[in-house]
Amino acid sequence: MSKVFSRRDLEFLLYEWLDVESLTARERFAEHSRETFDAFLDVSAQIAERDFAPHNRKNDLFEPTFDGTRVEIIPEVAAALKSFNASGLISGSMDAEHGGLQLPHVVHRACFLWFQAANIATASYPLLSMANAGLLLAHGTEEQIKTFAYPMIEGRFTGTMCLSEPQAGSSLSDVLTRAVPAGDGSYRITGSKMWISGGDHELSETIVHLVLARAEGARPGVKGLSLFIVPKHLVGPGGVVGERNQVALAGLNHKMGYRGTTNAVLSFDGATGYLVGEEGHGLAYMFHMMNEARIGVGAGAVALGYTGYLHALDYARERLQGRPVVAKDPAAPPVAIIKHPDVRRMLLAAKAYVEGGLALVLYAAKLLDEPSPGNDLLLDVLTPIVKAWPSQWCRLANDHAVQIHGGYGYTREYPVEQFYRDNRLNSIHEGTDGIQGLDLLGRKVVMRGGAGLAALVDLIKETAAGAPADLGAPVREAADRLLRTTAKLWADGDPATALANSTAYLDAAGHLVIAWMWLSQYAAADGKEGGFYDGKRLAARYFVTHELPRIGPLLDLLDSRDTLLADLDDACL
Ligand SMILES: Cc1cc2nc3c(=O)[nH]c(=O)nc-3n(C[C@H](O)[C@H](O)[C@H](O)COP(=O)(O)OP(=O)(O)OC[C@H]3O[C@@H](n4cnc5c(N)ncnc54)[C@H](O)[C@@H]3O)c2cc1C
Repeated sequence: MSKVFSRRDLEFLLYEWLDVESLTARERFAEHSRETFDAFLDVSAQIAERDFAPHNRKNDLFEPTFDGTRVEIIPEVAAALKSFNASGLISGSMDAEHGGLQLPHVVHRACFLWFQAANIATASYPLLSMANAGLLLAHGTEEQIKTFAYPMIEGRFTGTMCLSEPQAGSSLSDVLTRAVPAGDGSYRITGSKMWISGGDHELSETIVHLVLARAEGARPGVKGLSLFIVPKHLVGPGGVVGERNQVALAGLNHKMGYRGTTNAVLSFDGATGYLVGEEGHGLAYMFHMMNEARIGVGAGAVALGYTGYLHALDYARERLQGRPVVAKDPAAPPVAIIKHPDVRRMLLAAKAYVEGGLALVLYAAKLLDEPSPGNDLLLDVLTPIVKAWPSQWCRLANDHAVQIHGGYGYTREYPVEQFYRDNRLNSIHEGTDGIQGLDLLGRKVVMRGGAGLAALVDLIKETAAGAPADLGAPVREAADRLLRTTAKLWADGDPATALANSTAYLDAAGHLVIAWMWLSQYAAADGKEGGFYDGKRLAARYFVTHELPRIGPLLDLLDSRDTLLADLDDACL
């Protein structure tokens, strides 16, 4: 059985739970069938296992270097990207008119999970290019699409997103990079960008940076930000890559994980840039890429947690240690550690986190395939949870995987410590957990008079109504409670009090949503026999009985409108 990812679980979720075959009744997906979906899943697993997984460790041990002129990356990365590009998956969910395969997002997401599980660092390059090209297809001019998006779709160019600056990470309103009209329709971009993933390398003919900058005279704050295409090289007529643009690599950052993805400090010194859309709307366009990247980050967190769980499960079946508490005869043979209740505790928790997180990621992806005002609103509310919940809880699955490996888990001879380090990033980039909590409670659950949250709660209660009473009732009650707590928090409209414990709110809402995902999987497994379905029922029961109760104290705290954190004197810290 693969230790990279679980085809069985993907098939259950796609076909038995989400019924993705029904999507082929939609005109957009009419060319597809279960056979084409399976073929792309097969090819993804094959390339991921053959070309991505084998250099995952090497990526970590030999991180990219910069000699002042060129960035050197182990050759396996370019070879893996070549295979990936040849598969056509880079344009998987894009429109056929742009050369895309028009696969449902949910199937494409499932395919890409294999690559993220096999080698998250190498997978980051196409992840960024796909999101960058997707933004340009949605908001670029025909010329920009032809010059920059198509070569990314062909795998000739790669893309980045350049938002962060040394002084502006969470707070994009403090972005300082400037854009001055050059008089010929282009702009000159000057400033420093920090933490840019894939920001420099020799893996592609050139790199398409999407840069947030402030045009001359723009107002302060995020409403003064515009979005520019700033290529590493100027691109001439017919897509010919020409001379270097004024974008210099000031240095590479040395990270805890994801080491195979270059992470650059970029210096823009009057670089030629091309405005995307209209001035002042840059962040709105960037959100097209950020929302996709946020689901991609949540998916990456699931993938890392999942592969860690599979490694731990395999190890726990093999590793012999100790005897059952009732059979302490030292002459008796030792048992596999999977027999010990405490190891089972960690395995079952990890299973519930990674399979629950996977369900949420795929559910969110399917909402994109069935666009409607209701589904769009639901996705808006779910996005901070899809990003943040797996980043925390699937990382805990990685923590359990290290623990299950004991001392071996703490050594670099086993891969689980790398999965843990890699997953640590996901709570930081694309908006930290703290920022996701503020987004959820400060914007998403109150927008449109709370319609998104109300719709989510209705769906949760509908699923709970169909579940066995002992599992459905606690979920239904928790959903009602979340609604009441939200109303209480915003009763006087004071954001200082309402948002004082926004991370507790994110945690509570996240666990409720995953409990819902588990009840829904339980329903899909209902009446089916065999170890796989028993496992689904067991994990659903575990999540509702062992995990969901965590949210009670969180909601108690929120209901009390406690302001200890907001009020404390930081001299005490
Ligand atoms: C490996 C890596 C890859 C990255 N890739 C990219 C990329 O490709 N492109 C890009 O543009 N950026 C990228 N980033 C940047 C990333 O998005 C930022 O690091 C992140 O948004 C946090 O910003 P910061 O590092 O400046 O931390 P800060 O914003 O200084 O935050 C520090 C701490 O303070 C908290 N905090 C800050 N403000 C608030 C607030 N208002 N309320 C509550 N808590 C707050 C944060 O949650 C965090 O815990 C990457 C970062 C890393 C580490």
